[in-house]
Amino acid sequence: MYPLLLVRYGELSLKGRNRKTFEDILLNNIRSALADLPHGRLTKTYGRVYLETKDNWAELAERLQGIFGIVSVSPVLRRELDLEQIKEGASLVVKDTPGSTFKVGVRRPYKAFPLNSPELCHALGGHILRNFSHLKVDVHNPDFVLDVEIRQEGAFLYSQTLPCLRGLPAGSSGKGLLLLSGGIDSPVAGFLSMKRGVKIEGLHFYSYPFTSERSKAKVVELATRLAPYNGHGVFKLWIAYFTEIQKALQKGSYPNLSITLMRRFMLRIASKLAQREKALALITGDSLGQVASQTMESIHVINEVTNMPIFRPLIGMDKQEIIDLSVSIGTYETSILPYEDCCTVFVPKNPATKPKLEQVLRAEAELDVDGLVSEAIEKTELLELRN
Ligand code: ATP
Ligand code: MG
Repeated sequence: MYPLLLVRYGELSLKGRNRKTFEDILLNNIRSALADLPHGRLTKTYGRVYLETKDNWAELAERLQGIFGIVSVSPVLRRELDLEQIKEGASLVVKDTPGSTFKVGVRRPYKAFPLNSPELCHALGGHILRNFSHLKVDVHNPDFVLDVEIRQEGAFLYSQTLPCLRGLPAGSSGKGLLLLSGGIDSPVAGFLSMKRGVKIEGLHFYSYPFTSERSKAKVVELATRLAPYNGHGVFKLWIAYFTEIQKALQKGSYPNLSITLMRRFMLRIASKLAQREKALALITGDSLGQVASQTMESIHVINEVTNMPIFRPLIGMDKQEIIDLSVSIGTYETSILPYEDCCTVFVPKNPATKPKLEQVLRAEAELDVDGLVSEAIEKTELLELRN
């Protein structure tokens, strides 16, 4: 019954000179996300967007709820600036809204409308009470608010405001490379960076035959689930072959450092690939103290191989908070499927929680680090996932 969706975007309006660029990116993202759904015009006025629906507002609203940069969406009716027409629209909205108490909220940016806000509130409240005998007014804690906005282009009426993802539109910040494992954490880290406008590409380290085809399929599935948040089009997932590095590390004489060494290789490869692909940051699912490789000492030693910025959006989160988020973004079910990761296959009995840089450098002196890194980069494959 709602021919229009009112789309609000908050933070964008703070962006000063960049505002237009941000709005254009958001509108483009909305257009491409809705490409396969019937809809009418998308118009921008005064820091908000109206989308014409085709009897499918709920489906369109659900899609909009998955787009970064949107604060909330309301299904609305538009009426001419005429009290009788506004009353008729108010009745339709109220009829469609559950609850037994209500209040009327009026906003009136168009000051030429003959009734002022309290007068219009009063007129509509009375109209509703006369026509809906089950309803009472409760100004403090109503079951719903009938919102009425009086603008030059018409009166807009609605009672529902659906919260959306907020954040910045995908692609408005730049490109980042997400180190994507098959676990719970890294997809959530990807989501949180996308929330700040980072367009991500995924990089997975794959150690076939130590890890199976199935574990790669799982990562592809995770990337597919993240892809819609990244803006429409192709999601790039890089698969780096890690087997030779794993074999070389297995032979080494510092088993307790193998995870530290492995992570340093991952960052070296990721940094090179990021530079080549013009990504400006790496993103990982590290959470401080979660495992041996995520103590401050480990992070310090691991980080030492690169001077690229590394985003660790989960650094201050508890596992349960990460799990809750992964459930809500739709990656949890896939993340908990059984799989072998290249790290789980070779976990040492006592991984170093306080690795010493000198020891690590000594261990690496026994390896052909540059050769192994170049070889891995050369063999890296690109999967282009469409959404
Ligand atoms: P979980 O902790 O839920 O098992 P995880 O993905 O966080 O999953 P960790 O062992 O904690 O696994 O790894 C820390 C981070 O290192 C990951 O979040 C991810 O960014 C990166 N990482 C680990 N293994 C891989 C891999 N095989 N490919 C790409 N990145 C990886
Ligand atoms: Mg983790």
